[in-house]
Amino acid sequence: MAMNNFKKISEIHEAFDSGTLTPIELVHSYFVEMKSNPLNAFITECQDRALAQAEQLTHDLKSKYQGKTPRVAKPLFGIPLGIKDVLTVDGVRTTCASKILEDYIPPYTATAVQKLENAGAITLGKMNMDEFAMGSSNENSAFGPVIHPTHSDRVPGGSSGGSASAVAAKQCFASLGTDTGGSIRLPASFCGIVGMKPTYGRISRYGQIAFASSLDQIGPMTQSVEDAALLCQIMSGEDPLDSTTLNAPVDDWSESVRAEQRRGVSGFSGLRVGVPQEYFIEGIHPEVKNAIDSIIQKMKSQGAEIVSISLPHTQYAVATYYVVAVSEASSNLSRYDGVKFGTRSAAAREAKSLEDFYKKIRANFGSEVKRRIILGTFALSSGYYDAYYRRASQVRRLMRNDFESAFQKVDVIVSPVCPTTAFKLGEKSKNPLQMYLSDIFTIPASLAGLPCISVPIAKDQEGLPIGLHLIAPRLQETLLFKAGALVELLVGGHTS
Ligand code: GLN
Repeated sequence: MAMNNFKKISEIHEAFDSGTLTPIELVHSYFVEMKSNPLNAFITECQDRALAQAEQLTHDLKSKYQGKTPRVAKPLFGIPLGIKDVLTVDGVRTTCASKILEDYIPPYTATAVQKLENAGAITLGKMNMDEFAMGSSNENSAFGPVIHPTHSDRVPGGSSGGSASAVAAKQCFASLGTDTGGSIRLPASFCGIVGMKPTYGRISRYGQIAFASSLDQIGPMTQSVEDAALLCQIMSGEDPLDSTTLNAPVDDWSESVRAEQRRGVSGFSGLRVGVPQEYFIEGIHPEVKNAIDSIIQKMKSQGAEIVSISLPHTQYAVATYYVVAVSEASSNLSRYDGVKFGTRSAAAREAKSLEDFYKKIRANFGSEVKRRIILGTFALSSGYYDAYYRRASQVRRLMRNDFESAFQKVDVIVSPVCPTTAFKLGEKSKNPLQMYLSDIFTIPASLAGLPCISVPIAKDQEGLPIGLHLIAPRLQETLLFKAGALVELLVGGHTS
């Protein structure tokens, strides 16, 4: 097996156990792959730091964990990860793909990253993304677009495009993304990997540079449902540094995935799968539709009960999201003023007045970020708050109610992740509305704070991956991972 060709953490650990591979060799192999295939997936590579981590682990295994196998010592022993550049890592440049944070070196590490590193994971680098996580194609990065792992004329999806492309192209084993309206699930689907967003509040956002705080969540991007479950359970839990985290029990989700997989597809028997009428809209690509129809048929033939459901407020989802998200963004991004945060550029240092200073600092935002700050500032301005933000929050509540009543009848809900497969670079970048519609299927679950996952199920005629979107009730990650594992079994593990 090529050294970086592993699909599961358990395979890497077997190789460590048998003595055929060391963490240092594994880390090297990913850097070789990174250099040989320029996808622009990394903004910052952390080769020295990663090798030092690998050496430390090897050393600890001999001294501290004598006699233990790597996986017993630490559940993520020697697992090389890519970290989206919206998450801080102490001492490592963190840019959020923005010129305004070009030289920012944070003095602390995001809780989620810290938990993974404590469990033995190695950080290979900081992944390219849309600036401040605003986008669906990874074309909005100040560091240039990310290339699709198999089709160089296509986008990898966004905003966690670097995280997705690098996993699919074996430039890191797994990665972290963040999802506000679909930014983990969409690129996972476009690149043919697994991407999961947990229930809002499961994973601490401490150290996650904020875009829209009531929606943002960190999640794993992996090559298997089992590994997504493992990373998620390690990152989850209440954090005194983030008051929105939940004090809810975290189960051994990866063990339940394995149990499900041992049992086989008979696990579908009795599973109530909801298919929302509103999700099969016009404009959905026929090959995407066929792939979803066919997987639903397969679930049915394995004993799943397919139930047609209605989520009547779906039509307002994109509009609601773009009021809530831009409003919160305009507030969160006000801290980049060149005083509190934000690079004080040479031009700003020569500013003639305070206003001039602000203009010169803020000129460093890209055009999509500026568009959203302007829209959000308008939506929150006096006299408009009630008409926009308050109204959007009310619609959001209705959408949550839609899900609650649907979950009276079903265990999980399925839909496509995106109406299309990966589109061409430049195809939608001139038309923000077209771009915003890419998230039509992922946004409702974000607004409702629900756990959801994208699992690769097929490829279109051009070989572009198609993902299935599964949504579970709040805090029902066990059920979500179980359903994801069953789908993976059904398609025979279809990651690229
Ligand atoms: N594409 C959506 C947006 O541009 C979602 C982004 C995200 O989830 N971070 O806002």
